[in-house]
Amino acid sequence: MRGEATKRPLMVASENGRRGLEAGMALLRQGGSALDAVEAACRVVEEDPDDQSVGVGGLPNVLGEVELDASIMDGATLQAGAVAALQGYGQAITLARRVMEETPHVLVVGRGAERLAAELGIPPQEQRTEASLLRWRERFEERGLDPTGSLRLLARALSRPLPLRDLARQPRIDTLGTVNFLALDQEGNLASAVSTSGLGWKYPGRVGDSPLIGAGNYCDNRYGAAACTGMGELAIRAGSARSLVLYLKCGLSLVDAGREALRDLLALGTTDSQYMNIVALTPAGEHAGFTTVAGKEYLFQEAGMAEPQLAARLQLEA
Ligand code: ASP
Repeated sequence: MRGEATKRPLMVASENGRRGLEAGMALLRQGGSALDAVEAACRVVEEDPDDQSVGVGGLPNVLGEVELDASIMDGATLQAGAVAALQGYGQAITLARRVMEETPHVLVVGRGAERLAAELGIPPQEQRTEASLLRWRERFEERGLDPTGSLRLLARALSRPLPLRDLARQPRIDTLGTVNFLALDQEGNLASAVSTSGLGWKYPGRVGDSPLIGAGNYCDNRYGAAACTGMGELAIRAGSARSLVLYLKCGLSLVDAGREALRDLLALGTTDSQYMNIVALTPAGEHAGFTTVAGKEYLFQEAGMAEPQLAARLQLEA
């Protein structure tokens, strides 16, 4: 944990959020809101084709389709918005924000999310890249399967439906990835945002923790903000982001609140490939990262810092 006495504004991100964090901080320094900063930061990562865990270039599901999940929460109003299993569009975090601001709902999924994107004038956008499709294909080739064309065609060609669940099973470490941003603005408002293409080779329609308020994302100006990366099923079962914030509400220090959230995760049976990471930020500007596996880091940038820095996440072992 760092920086109890740090001055606002400040931002925290998962390891892959460096460029987004810089964009978000630039906005905060000009007096921008935490909500605008986390959205802008996510957009940078969503549009980066080299990040194979978020937005354009994100790893496809088992059928070779990219399905995006994202959520945003405003700590001042406790309003939240999210989209899940979004295909054929980018800007998932912006769509999540528009769900929050322009509909009476919190979460819109699949065809409904795509319809809303079109209605709001968000342009359709191919999320697959040559590189992401190559990685997608390699996993089949390793198993002696030929995914030429689309698996749907392959499935139709077989006498029985292709057992997708076997292919989608056994997530590996290299199939994970998501971006988290937490921000504290000059006014003292907190906001949080999470965006991902989810688990690579996931079963079509699988939704992770990232778009689920309380699981992968939670933010409350009074106590703090938390967001997760890792095996989403764990954070869903433990309600990790909300429980960390609730532990803060109960009076625990940030480190103890994170430890409790990790204990809840460890009770589910985490492993080296089924791990969970959490980043957290309090209204006083304290921040920390937590993890169930060794060697994980997170990024932060405080008001006086010229660039984002990496810090070790606190680990609790099983
Ligand atoms: N939490 C994301 C999910 O389960 C993936 C990740 O963070 O690696 O969809």
